Amino acid sequence: MGVDMNCFYHPDASAVGVCKACSKGLCPECAADLGHGIACKNKHEQRVEDLEFIISKNTKALRAAKKNPLIGVLFFGFMGAVFCGFGLWGRAEISWLSTVMGAGFLVFAVLAFIQIRAVWGKS
Ligand SMILES: [Zn+2]
Ligand SMILES: [Zn+2]
Repeated sequence: MGVDMNCFYHPDASAVGVCKACSKGLCPECAADLGHGIACKNKHEQRVEDLEFIISKNTKALRAAKKNPLIGVLFFGFMGAVFCGFGLWGRAEISWLSTVMGAGFLVFAVLAFIQIRAVWGKS
C-alpha cells in the first residue's frame, strides 16, 4: 500500500504508513489508525493526538488572525477619522489633542493593514 518501506518494529513486514509523531514505518499490526493519520500502537497515539490538536488550534488561530486585523483596520480607521474630524472642525481648545489622537489611530490602522497584507501574502 503506497509506502515503499518496511515496519520499524517488524523489518520483514511492509509498512502501510508512517507514524505522525516519529515518522517510522508501521505495518497494519503496529499502526493505530486515528482517523487523521496513524501512530505507533500503544506508544505514540497520545503524542499524535496532541500534535493534531495543536495544528488544528494553530489553523483556527491563523484564520481568526486573518479576520481580526481587518476589524482592527476598520476600527482604527474609523476612530482616526472621527478624532481628526473633531480636531479639524471641532472646538479649538481640544482640536490639537484630537488631531494627534486621530493621527495615532490612523497609524494603527495602517499598521493593522500592513499586518493583513503580510498574513494574506503567505497563504
Ligand atoms: Zn509492525
Ligand atoms: Zn511513533
